[in-house]
Amino acid sequence: MKLLLDATRCQGYGLCHEPAPDLIDLDEWGYATVVAQPGSGAAEAAASAAAACPNSALKWER
Ligand code: SF4
Repeated sequence: MKLLLDATRCQGYGLCHEPAPDLIDLDEWGYATVVAQPGSGAAEAAASAAAACPNSALKWER
């Protein structure tokens, strides 16, 4: 299982951070970086972060 970010699609909306603050950091402009991969306990947070992205920049691959 892996949380993948396509940085070319990220538009800096920042909506992915709230559901998964331990997995995703935002820079000062709101652009995302995946800083950790979820353990089994954070799979739901990773899925929520991917679902929150309006630009399909985040993918949660099982
Ligand atoms: S919600 Fe999507 S577009 Fe917005 S910062 Fe996160 S990855 Fe980027």
